[in-house]
Amino acid sequence: MPTGRPAVFLDRDDTLIANRTLPEVAGVRRGDLCDPDRVRLLPGAAEGCRLLSESGLVLVVVTNQGVVARGGGTLDDVRRTNDRLRDLLSDPARPGASMIAAVYACPFHPEGAVERFAREHPWRKPSGGMVRAASIELGIDLPTSWMIGDSARDIEAAVDAGVPRDSTILLDERAPDILSAALYVLAARAAGGEQSTVTLSLDRPGAFENERVRETVIATANALAERTGMELVEVLLDASGLRATLSGPKVVALGFGAELRRLTNGWHKARHGSNLWPEPPDVHRGGDDA
Ligand SMILES: [Mg+2]
Repeated sequence: MPTGRPAVFLDRDDTLIANRTLPEVAGVRRGDLCDPDRVRLLPGAAEGCRLLSESGLVLVVVTNQGVVARGGGTLDDVRRTNDRLRDLLSDPARPGASMIAAVYACPFHPEGAVERFAREHPWRKPSGGMVRAASIELGIDLPTSWMIGDSARDIEAAVDAGVPRDSTILLDERAPDILSAALYVLAARAAGGEQSTVTLSLDRPGAFENERVRETVIATANALAERTGMELVEVLLDASGLRATLSGPKVVALGFGAELRRLTNGWHKARHGSNLWPEPPDVHRGGDDA
């Protein structure tokens, strides 16, 4: 019997928000991000978090911030930066609240310059201290929880604390961002029996008159289901768009539709210069260029 709620633990830098790809700033060490104005959500982060949250998972960020030990920022800078992240991931279902239930940050680093923080610490990933602390403070059931991160130490921290290794996702080509990773989580959590549907409406009627377009959409849908373990019951195309039925609750179908839209839009844009389906409103990007 689970003793608490399942969570998905999320790494912060280069998982939820850009870090290594940000333009360099004079005087700031590459990889250090301690400025709320530089917080930019990565593609798929907001949509992926929404799907994970809707599927009943508690979202918890666990992040190493050795920048504090190095003297590149203060605890307050880290807190303000994390607050900005939480604001960008506001919860559409709960006005004023964030989808991120909590952020755990570890300011320690053994090679730090700030004496107070210049040591190893059980919270510092790959140790599982932050995940353990969250499980106690937020009532999280670790055996039914997940971890998504871009680094091996994210995975090891979760496993160290008691998250099953099978429930960890290292961002890679298979799952390059949180939206992609969320599909694997949703597929694994989808209980049998229930079915749900998602529809996508074409941006321009007539696009399916092109047989190659129709074939590509069907093939992409089947490949996506195969790759993620989602059970695609049926996919139907007509003149106005697509209707897909999957095993699992509505959030599974919504996630499938979101990723199918993204994949096939990318293909269609590269070949025909336009999207196949309208993109959703681009919210929650953050930063000056949002
Ligand atoms: Mg990272």
